[in-house]
Amino acid sequence: MIQLIRGFKDILPGEVEIWQNIEKTARSLFEDFGFKEIRLPILERTELFARSIGEDTDIVEKEMYTFPDKKGDLITLRPEATASVVRSYIQHKMYAKDPVQKFYSIGPMFRRERPQKGRYRQFYQINAEVFGIDSPFIDAQLIFLAVKLFSMLEVTDAKPHINSLGCPKCRLNFKESLSIFLSSVTEKLCRDCLRRSKKNPLRVLDCKSSSCREAIIDAPAIIDYLCPECSQHFETVKYALEKFKIPFVIDKHLVRGLDYYTRTTFEIQTGLLGAQNAVAGGGRYDGLVKALGGPDQPATGFAIGLDRLAEITGLRNKDLLQKPDIYIAALGEKSRPLAFEWSCNFGLEGIRPEMDLSNRSLKSQMKRADRLKASYVLIVGDNELEEGSVILRNMTTKKQISIPIESLVEKVKAEIRL
Ligand code: ATP
Ligand code: MG
Repeated sequence: MIQLIRGFKDILPGEVEIWQNIEKTARSLFEDFGFKEIRLPILERTELFARSIGEDTDIVEKEMYTFPDKKGDLITLRPEATASVVRSYIQHKMYAKDPVQKFYSIGPMFRRERPQKGRYRQFYQINAEVFGIDSPFIDAQLIFLAVKLFSMLEVTDAKPHINSLGCPKCRLNFKESLSIFLSSVTEKLCRDCLRRSKKNPLRVLDCKSSSCREAIIDAPAIIDYLCPECSQHFETVKYALEKFKIPFVIDKHLVRGLDYYTRTTFEIQTGLLGAQNAVAGGGRYDGLVKALGGPDQPATGFAIGLDRLAEITGLRNKDLLQKPDIYIAALGEKSRPLAFEWSCNFGLEGIRPEMDLSNRSLKSQMKRADRLKASYVLIVGDNELEEGSVILRNMTTKKQISIPIESLVEKVKAEIRL
């Protein structure tokens, strides 16, 4: 038997209802706040990710699904959405109409990492991106939206951790101090971080290995190196979160795994997921639009891990499962075509039908109706047809009534008052 690829998964009915509910809630929340949906390709040129995410990040170094197409062009299954949204903003010159654009997007991402709970090779993200606004209030609003979505989805433990990465100007001094610090703890750093500590020391702060985490406990904090503008920006983000009454934690070593982030950086963390504690990550990336050949426009956004969110939501599958409203038990050759016609008309009326098209006994059909948790059963046999009425059984109260065949769908509809 052919099985699915390691790290990939099927989302089956029974679980998919939770996903649909999350997506529906996210869509309506974003749209209420003026975000427009954007749908982007799953394959892009490798160069787009290499340039925007950064050559020496985990994603680009080891996690991308990259391959040559038949002509030899290198293409990559997108590992995240931001790079594509920026490409699209530039390619369609959306900034010319209005530099301020707000997008949301939902879809699969691909990273070849070691599969485990909460970590898959195809996973899904809900993204929100805002272009053209450098005000810290919009950063706070994005954090507010993520927190609001989690509370709408009954997540009991989700808290924003925030930090500022400053601008390239403040980062210059910080990088130097960090490098000096790192050279004093080299024996604790993993091999990757040893290399990064020279080229891109900030990345060491993002390493998951326990000895690196320990090594950086006393590392200098970037918020102590912010220039006055960046410092004021961060103060306003905190002020706005306090105004929104959103509790947050300042995490002075929080950096994003992606190179293009500036100023506000955040993660929504949870204790409900074991080792994988981040359910969302985001922040500003003011330099990226320009770096990819667009105008100098600021940008900010976040990505929620939908798989992880589905694991921690308080929504329960059993409350969302779709059950048949009416199960039609047709018995006999004459009744089946009529029952089939009714079942189609029930569907059109928004009364969810289920019907057995085989020739099974009433007993076995009633059993199936029970198993499917149908609310009503309509019993129609050739005898009933001759008498001109059929039986409607309420599966909760077990009460049965007789319904005339004439305009049956309307009569049933009135009876079950849907
Ligand atoms: P992590 O630190 O867990 O590796 P990350 O920093 O790589 O996460 P981002 O690139 O910020 O993650 O992506 C945003 C969100 O997408 C994460 O907070 C997480 O919820 C989700 N995510 C990232 N990688 C995976 C994965 N392999 N499987 C499932 N969800 C993922
Ligand atoms: Mg990762």
